[in-house]
Amino acid sequence: MVGVWPWRTSRTVVGAGPAAFLREAVFRLAVFLEAGVVLVISDVESTVGRVKPLVGPGSELHHEIVNCRACPRLVEWRERVAVEKRASYRDEDYWGRPITGFGDPDARIVVLGLAPAAHGANRTGRMFTGDRSGDWLFRAMHRAGLANQPGSVSADDGLELHDAWVTSAVKCAPPDNKPTPSERDECSSFLQRELDGLERMRVMICLGTFGFDAAMRFFGIRPKPKFGHGVDVQIDGGPLVLGCYHVSQQNTFTGRLTEEMLDDVFRTAVEHADR
Ligand code: SF4
Repeated sequence: MVGVWPWRTSRTVVGAGPAAFLREAVFRLAVFLEAGVVLVISDVESTVGRVKPLVGPGSELHHEIVNCRACPRLVEWRERVAVEKRASYRDEDYWGRPITGFGDPDARIVVLGLAPAAHGANRTGRMFTGDRSGDWLFRAMHRAGLANQPGSVSADDGLELHDAWVTSAVKCAPPDNKPTPSERDECSSFLQRELDGLERMRVMICLGTFGFDAAMRFFGIRPKPKFGHGVDVQIDGGPLVLGCYHVSQQNTFTGRLTEEMLDDVFRTAVEHADR
């Protein structure tokens, strides 16, 4: 336990628009019903228009992210990788665009990584999908009861997350897995809107220093606690942030991160979410 910190983030207003209108309408309906008034609503959506989710497919955020070209260096890199390809994937069509988070929009547990991998998510179009890092991550999430299957090979492989959301601080694959500070900052509004949209979040697992630092920045924590595996920071009025070594091969091949260590982190996350 590092400490209890005030949550000083300047959260964006996510309640604006049709979704908020509908929530308000439902709230008012509940008040009426509690008062014994019976109302028949034939089609609420016809009144307020189709209600879009805050995150995930169909949301405005999703649309903006996958069409973003704000960082010239990353756009050039993600698209070049998608054309040049790795030899073993030469017959595949790479996604070659930004990657949004995915999972359960009602998730209480959020996994935050660094950025898509050039031949993993940048190829398949889904975070941590199609590479060794994802094998480790989704196996652990399956053991923890957060994923319906341990494997993750393509965006249409049937993987479903329950009570969990997986995302990254930067949405485009960077050269050498190193986004610049300006690219990180450019992408931070997407992360902020995404996290704001995950209204039930209770735990955030940060994979590696980059994800951990992004979380500290998001929650406005100063001074920033030092990242470490097992470090936890309870955000005042917000989630428990857990530090976890990244599931990269540098860590898993060398034994720096073991499956038991990963299981411990997810066990802590699930227990905290259930409290
Ligand atoms: S890293 Fe983020 S801000 Fe930059 S181009 Fe990709 S999606 Fe856009």
